[in-house]
Amino acid sequence: MPVSVHISAQPRSRCTPVSDTIVRCQTVSDTIWGCQTPVEIRRARFGQATVPLDDDALVVTSRAAFDAALLTAAERAGASIERTRVVDLSIDRTGVDVMTPHARHRASWIVGADGANSLVRRRVARAFGRRQLSIATGFYARGVTCDEIVIEFTADPPGYIWSFPRADHLAIGICAQADAGTTSAALRARTADWVRGSAAGLPVEAAEPQRWVPYSWPIPSLTADDFERLDFVGPRWMLVGDAAGLVDPITREGIFFALQSAEFAAAALGAKGPATEYAARLRDDTIAELTLAARLKSGFFTPPFVRLLVNALERSAPIRAVMADLIAGRQRYRTLKWRLTKTFEIGLAWKALNVRLKPDATWQNNRPAL
Ligand SMILES: Cc1cc2nc3c(=O)[nH]c(=O)nc-3n(C[C@H](O)[C@H](O)[C@H](O)COP(=O)(O)OP(=O)(O)OC[C@H]3O[C@@H](n4cnc5c(N)ncnc54)[C@H](O)[C@@H]3O)c2cc1C
Repeated sequence: MPVSVHISAQPRSRCTPVSDTIVRCQTVSDTIWGCQTPVEIRRARFGQATVPLDDDALVVTSRAAFDAALLTAAERAGASIERTRVVDLSIDRTGVDVMTPHARHRASWIVGADGANSLVRRRVARAFGRRQLSIATGFYARGVTCDEIVIEFTADPPGYIWSFPRADHLAIGICAQADAGTTSAALRARTADWVRGSAAGLPVEAAEPQRWVPYSWPIPSLTADDFERLDFVGPRWMLVGDAAGLVDPITREGIFFALQSAEFAAAALGAKGPATEYAARLRDDTIAELTLAARLKSGFFTPPFVRLLVNALERSAPIRAVMADLIAGRQRYRTLKWRLTKTFEIGLAWKALNVRLKPDATWQNNRPAL
C-alpha cells in the first residue's frame, strides 16, 4: 500500500504481559522511530474537548517506510524474499506447495499475512463476507499538516470521522460496515462536508478540493460471534493480521495486532505443537481483547453515550487521562470498565450501556483492585 498510516506506540505498551515479546516489540518500536520523519502528535481533539498527549503516546510515520523497514529487518534475520505474487497453494499431510507465476515452493507450514482479501484464507477457510468487512474511505489533503488528531464520533454509520496528520499531508477519512447500505462516494461526500465545516477546525487549506487524493480500502471488522468462531489456524497453516481478521472493530486499527499475531506465529513454529501453541496464545491475548472491543462497539457510538463522553472529555481530567491512554494503546479494553467505573458520570453511563463483558478467566485475572 503506497500510503502511510498512523501507528500508535502500542507495540511498546500493549506487550507488557508477555516478557519475551517486550524485547522483540521494542525492536518494532525502534523500527518505527527509525523510519523517516515520524510526526509526533501532541493532542487529540474531540469536538470542543482537547486531550493532551505525552511525548511517545502517538507517532505517525510513512507506512511505506515502515513496511520497508520491517522487510529489511526480516532479511537481516535470515528470511529470503521473493518479490512476486502467490497465485495458488495446496496443502497435504506432509507440507504446503506455494505457486508463483514462475516457481513452485515446498514448505512445512504456510503463514498467510496477505491482508483482508487473503488468498491463503480463501484456500484454507473462506473469504470474509461483506458484513465482516468495513470500508475505510476518504482523502489525503496534500501539502497541509498539523500536530493534532481530530475525531468526530458519528452514530450513522457507527464510528468516527478522523483527520490524522502526516509529514506532508492530512489523512482524512471515515469507516462504515460494507453492508451498511452506503457507498464510498457518499461517505467521502460526508467527510468533505465535515472538512468544510467549522466543527472540524482543520487548517483552511484542507478544504481545497485540488489538494484531495481519494482512497478506499477494505478492513476486516468482526463481531464477537465471529471472533469466537474465527478460522485462523489448522494443519500446516496459520493466518496473521488482517488475513485472520485481527482488527479492533471500534478503532479499526490492525497494525499492532498484525505484529502481535506474527510474533505468536513465529514463536509457535518453533514449538512442539505449532497449531495448538498458536491457537492458545492468540485466543488468550489478541482474540480475548478484540472480542471485548466487538461487544463494546454497539453501545459505544450511540448518540447519548457519545454526547456524554464528549462532555466528560471537556470537563473531566480523569476521563481525558483514560482517553489519552486509549489513544496511546496503554489502556486495554479488559480493564477499561473498571477504570471508567471509578469516574462518576461516565461510570454510570457505562453501566447503562449494559455491555455484556464475559467474566472469563483472563478478565478476572486482570481485574484491578478497586
Ligand atoms: C485507510 C486505512 C487506514 C488505516 N489506518 C490504520 C492505523 O492508523 N493504525 C492501525 O493500526 N491500522 C490501520 N489500518 C489497518 C491496517 O492497515 C491493517 O490492519 C494492517 O495493515 C494489517 O497488516 P497485514 O500485514 O495483516 O496486512 P496488509 O498490510 O494488508 O499486508 C498484506 C500484504 O500482502 C500482500 N499480498 C496480498 N495478496 C498477495 C499475494 N497473493 N501474493 C503476495 N503478496 C500478497 C499485499 O501486497 C500486502 O503487502 C488502516 C487501514 C486502512 C485501510
